[in-house]
Order: sequence, then structure tokens, then C-alpha cells
Amino acid sequence: MAREIYVVGNWKMNHTLDTCTSFWDDLEGEDFHPNVRAGIAPAMPLLHISERKSTAPIDVYAQNCHEASSGAYTGESSAAMLKSIGITGVILGHSERREIYHESDALILAKMKHALSADLQVIYCCGEPLDIRKAGAQNDYIKDQLEASLLPLDVDQLAQVCIAYEPIWAIGTGETASAQQAQDMCAHIRSLCTEKYGKEAADKLHILYGGSVKPANAQEIFSQTDVDGGLVGGASLDSGSYMELLQIAGKLME
Ligand code: PEP
Repeated sequence: MAREIYVVGNWKMNHTLDTCTSFWDDLEGEDFHPNVRAGIAPAMPLLHISERKSTAPIDVYAQNCHEASSGAYTGESSAAMLKSIGITGVILGHSERREIYHESDALILAKMKHALSADLQVIYCCGEPLDIRKAGAQNDYIKDQLEASLLPLDVDQLAQVCIAYEPIWAIGTGETASAQQAQDMCAHIRSLCTEKYGKEAADKLHILYGGSVKPANAQEIFSQTDVDGGLVGGASLDSGSYMELLQIAGKLME
């Protein structure tokens, strides 16, 4: 079955209002392939750029949300707040949140349930560290991660989730997983979802690869059977290279 290709940029803590605005200006009026889903996840203070949706068809994602709907949580934002300003979804489970902010699988699952109940899409990230990959234990590692923080969802919740496989050793390192490694893990993830949710639901699921995706390697990675696009850090910061990624995805959809 033909799934759309997602190209979602995770800007992390980069860009300010000026540079964010000129990025959107650069993409204004661009016509992307209808089956390519363009998304950018700017930092919280820039999320209002979602107001530009009518001039540039880019979905805006948040990089985090809290697991409660409101309350005394200084510095935090709820899913309902994000929804109220036109945000499409939220990235959860990113390895930087897991490692730097010690987010556990239990917390990630709580955040996912909260975001889904507020009708946000979730881009759920999973991925193994280098020592696990070197030991050849990556399939079991990802299975454990999914069992703890994804597979407890029901099939209706899963329909609002996009999974991003992001091997930690390939994030921001310039080292990309080979297209075959990306395919193998995305196929593994799809088969775990098939076991839990059935073939129909798993076939509809979008599974992205993330880890040093750039225009030079995107075509090979995005054309893998079980890879439905990319979650892109560094190469999404520049409008030119982001646009190239969208064009590569568009060509694959022709
Ligand atoms: C990311 O952090 O989600 C990511 C994939 O970063 P990069 O593309 O820079 O490796």
C-alpha cells in the first residue's frame, strides 16, 4: 500500500524569530507533492509560525509537551496549549530527551497518551546506542523500548502515531545508518506492530528514519520499502537543503 513520505525537521534549540521567518519566506508558495508531508519542529517560542500555514504548507510540530493538562509546572506546556495554537503534533521519546533529561519509557508513554487525547499526532522516537549495535542486540533493544512505551497504546491511538527509528550513533554524528540497516530496523518495527495490532494497522503506519539524513543520502533511504521518510536534524536548518529533501521525496512519489 502507498504511504505518504514525511520529511520532518527537528530544529532542536536552533533559529530565532528572524531566521525562522526567513526560512518560511523561502518556502512560501512552494508546491510540494501532495503525498509528501512537510513538517518542522521549531523551539517553543517559535511555534506561532504555524500561523503561516496558508502560505507555506508545512505542519508545525512541538519538540516536547508535559503529561498533565494544566497545573503548577513552571516552564512546561500542555498538549492542549499546543493544539490551541494550531500545532499538528509533538516529537516524543527523542534520545536527547531520554539521555539529557532522563525521560523514562513510563514518562514518554504518559506524555504520548496525553498528547493523543488532545488530538495531537505523535512522532515517537526509538533507537539504540552504539554498544548495543556493535553487540548485534539492536532488535531486542528496540523491541523492549516499544513494549515499554509504544505497544501499550491501543490501535486507535496508534493511528495517530508516526514512529521515527533514530539510532543514537547516527544522530548529529555525520554517520548514517546504511539504507539496508534503516530498512531492516523499520521492517522489524513494522513486524512488532503487526503482531500487536494486525497487518492492516501496521501497513498504514508511517515509520521514519532519523540520523544524519541529508540530500546526498535521502533518495536511497526514503526509497526503502518500510521507510516512510525522515526525521531530520542538521539538514533541516537550511531552507535550501530542506527543500531538496522535499523534492527528493516528491520524485519518489511520482
Ligand atoms: C535528530 O536529532 O532527530 C536527528 C536525526 O538529527 P541529525 O539529522 O542532525 O542527525
